[in-house]
Order: sequence, then structure tokens, then C-alpha cells
Amino acid sequence: MTEKNIAVVLAAGQGKRMNSQTAKQYLLLKGKPVIWYSLRAFEECPFIDEIILVAAEKDIDYCRQYIVEQYGFRKVSRIVAGGKERYYSVYNGLRAITDCTFVYIHDGARPFLTQDILKRAREAVCTYQACVVGMPVKDTIKICDKDGFSVQTPDRSVVWQVQTPQVFSYPLIRRAYDCLIEELQKGMGTVITDDAMVVERMTEQKVRLVKGTYSNIKITTPEDMAMAEQLQKI
Ligand code: C5P
Repeated sequence: MTEKNIAVVLAAGQGKRMNSQTAKQYLLLKGKPVIWYSLRAFEECPFIDEIILVAAEKDIDYCRQYIVEQYGFRKVSRIVAGGKERYYSVYNGLRAITDCTFVYIHDGARPFLTQDILKRAREAVCTYQACVVGMPVKDTIKICDKDGFSVQTPDRSVVWQVQTPQVFSYPLIRRAYDCLIEELQKGMGTVITDDAMVVERMTEQKVRLVKGTYSNIKITTPEDMAMAEQLQKI
């Protein structure tokens, strides 16, 4: 079977921490919407076959007209509605896929995705079936108790901050998410902050860490937008 790679690009968040009327993924960075940069990385990547864009239901028409058609993103095959949490948005993206080998899940609010990162992720997923991009932390990390006192200092050399893309064999991530959604439907509450966590909890599969870059930031607050303006200059 020939390898088929699909990117699921997430843009259905409201971005409340940005304090802006416009969701962060549509703010302009050097004249282009933030989401344009992620879509361009996948559009230009030779081994990505298709892109599924996940947007808020109310923004689907806007995305089709002003992002996909205006900038000519030909690999975007579908724009699907997201959900109220990131993991529901991912699940909706996964359910829009019928056939693929590997799925590249990426935050649309991370504009500095490079071809080198994508290549490293592909190499890793082909070998290990599951990988997440990230970087070793530079600062010392403390675990604190509920009163705000430090209780533990993990060895910095084994602590990573994770980014996206997070890349998985499609049957694996689909199975993991099906289990998660089933648990949620049974009322089993859980805090899910990334896709690797879903695989770690719901399957036996080990997830490989792959180096991204320290510039592969997620735009969350106005300070991140200012930093992104600086990074984009370079
Ligand atoms: O909110 P956060 O910064 O963690 O969002 C990371 C990415 O996930 C963003 O690109 C955002 O648009 C997307 N997201 C989503 N659906 C949600 C929440 C976040 O697609 N319900």
C-alpha cells in the first residue's frame, strides 16, 4: 500500500487569552493570517497529500473563501466544524478521514512549522508509529503542591516541552480517540492537553519525542504575537 499522509490543522479555538475580537489564528502576522503559515508548510511539503482544516462552525465559509480560495491552498480537501474542546476538534478532524497511513495533527496557531521539522517527524513516525515534536526545557521545572510550594524538581535533562505536529499511524490515533470519546460519554472526566496523552492513556503504544525548534511557538497571548512578529523578521 502506498503511504498516504494527511494533516489535520486545528483552527477552532476561540483564543480567549488573546483578548482580541478576532481569534488568534486569523490575526495578521506580516500581512498574512496566522493560520496561513501552517497551511503553507503542509501545502509545500512533498509527502503531505491532503489537509483537513478544522474551524469553528461559524467560520467555515470565511475559511473557505478568505483562506483556502484566496491563497490557493489546493491540498485542503475539507473544512470541518470543531468542537468545544481541542480534543473534540481533533476527533472531528479524524472522523473526516476515511483512508490514510499517518496523520499530522497541528495547531493552526503555530506558524513557525518548518520543512525540517516535518521531515524529522516523518522519519520518526515511519519507525515508531507515534511521535510528538518538542524541545528539551531550558529552565528548571518545579512540581508544586496545591498551596504553591515546591515539592519536587525533576531532572531537567529528561523534561521536554511539547509542541505540534503530533504524528500517528491513523488506525492507532483513531482507536485511541474512539476510546477517549467513549469514556467521556460515560461521564468519566479527564484533562487532555495533547494527542500523545490520548495514545499514552488508551493504548500500549510508546510515543517518540522528536526535536522541533525553540521558535515553533504557539500564539496564545498578545506577548506571543509580538514575539512572532520578531521571529518572522528573521
Ligand atoms: O487553546 P489552545 O491554544 O491550546 O489551542 C491550540 C490549537 O487548537 C489552536 O490552533 C486552536 O485553534 C485549536 N483549538 C481547536 N478547538 C478547540 C480549542 C482549540 O481547534 N476547541
